[in-house]
Amino acid sequence: MYTELFLCIDGRFIGSGPGRTSEPVENPATGAVLGELPHATTAELDEAVAAATRAFAGWAATAPFERSAILRRTAGILRDRIDAIAAIMTLEQGKPLAEAKGELTHAIELFEWLAEEGRRTYGRVVPSRAPGALEHLVLREPVGVCAAFTPWNFPALTPVRKLGAALAAGCTVILKASEETPGCAVEIMRALHEAGLPAGCAQLVFGVPADVSERLIAAPDVRKISFTGSTPVGKHLMALAAAGAKRTTMELGGNAPVLVFSDADYDAALAALTAAKFRNAGQVCVSPARFFVHESLYQRFVADAAARARALRLGDGLDPQSQMGPLANARRVEAMEAFVADAERGGARIVGGGRRRGDTGMFFEPTVVAADAPDIRLFRDECFGPILPVMPFGTLDEAIELANGTAAGLAGYAFTQAIGNRQAAMHRLRVGMVGVNTLAISTAETPFGGVGESGFGSEGGSEGLDAYLQTKLASIAA
Ligand code: NAD
Repeated sequence: MYTELFLCIDGRFIGSGPGRTSEPVENPATGAVLGELPHATTAELDEAVAAATRAFAGWAATAPFERSAILRRTAGILRDRIDAIAAIMTLEQGKPLAEAKGELTHAIELFEWLAEEGRRTYGRVVPSRAPGALEHLVLREPVGVCAAFTPWNFPALTPVRKLGAALAAGCTVILKASEETPGCAVEIMRALHEAGLPAGCAQLVFGVPADVSERLIAAPDVRKISFTGSTPVGKHLMALAAAGAKRTTMELGGNAPVLVFSDADYDAALAALTAAKFRNAGQVCVSPARFFVHESLYQRFVADAAARARALRLGDGLDPQSQMGPLANARRVEAMEAFVADAERGGARIVGGGRRRGDTGMFFEPTVVAADAPDIRLFRDECFGPILPVMPFGTLDEAIELANGTAAGLAGYAFTQAIGNRQAAMHRLRVGMVGVNTLAISTAETPFGGVGESGFGSEGGSEGLDAYLQTKLASIAA
């Protein structure tokens, strides 16, 4: 059911073989080895940059209509194969099949949306001050060769956000997808080439992440870096990019606050928040992370959230009965154990879950932690896993202050009917995306991105395309 793993350089698919460094890819639900992932040599990384550089002029000059047609065909191929690719994703990443299909649907829609939006990279005309001069033309041009780095939590969506926008804008790209979840990126690359993408427009490489990123970012022909992952790695890549004055888009860690006010539609809030919290076992950068619940609802919310956590069926994502899969790797399990131990030390109550489940696979129980004060790590550091920490608040100002109490600023949520609370959430939460009475903040047509230590720049929406375009002024005299 898994796929054969390849690098893709200049249109050639290169597999593992004798003499080549490779690494095993494991199924986090069982520990079974799924396949061998070839690493690119240094010479191949340089060849990937050279191929993207050679292909750039032709792709940038290709009519946006033609580029759009290729992206639409890619979307069609992926849609035809959605069941097979969803199974690949579940095998390598662990999320339940239904979630894998949902992610792929989003990724396919993103290709389609970018295919359309890429046809609308309009410039503008500014009237000239000089008598007799014709005009100033503001042109939008693709930035050039891009290097993109994507993580393991969304093995299809994060590559498509970068590949789709870069290609729609007329850029060429080298993608280093996660070595832990490479199969979806291989399938996306296959679909792009079957859809008619010319050789060299998109390459896929794998290796030791620090070595690959250092080599690609230092290459003079690479003009733009896009990274999704943790804040420390993002800062490191920004420093590498700064040495070459290269543009960056950084989608880094979140730590989303949730405010549940006393006037919230309680049942709707509880259902939406617990579903979102345990989706992808909490390994989502916009996952609701720090729960602040009005003191009048606090005890009830803790009990109800714990009941829902206990009722979740944990299991292999391939089993249609499973509602939550394993964590993606052993690092996350260790991180969850450390968060729970810290919460216990800090006097918080572990109301449900709190432990690893079984000794096969990376399963960790959906967990609810009740805390009366924010001095445990769960309220400071991003947990990126299935732990739902709750603490009470009294006033609106107190809630906003607690919510803004970390350096991250990706997403924030509020559940309330009162117009004043909605306005406060919208204007006073220091984040890049706010959901009021909803957690649906990520769609193909809307910008996705953070502020503060969550990074900068957007993916999705017309802003996502802008990230791959640069502005040129042409002033034309008579
Ligand atoms: P990590 O910091 O080791 O790696 C994060 C990602 O960056 C991985 O995909 C990894 O392959 C890649 N990476 C690491 N070093 C790199 C380098 N020098 N150059 C290029 N890429 C590099 O952490 P991890 O254990 O994989 O994940 C844990 C943390 O990462 C989480 O707590 C979460 O905060 C963050 N994370 C965020 C997202 C997101 O969507 N923003 C996704 C995955 C992980």
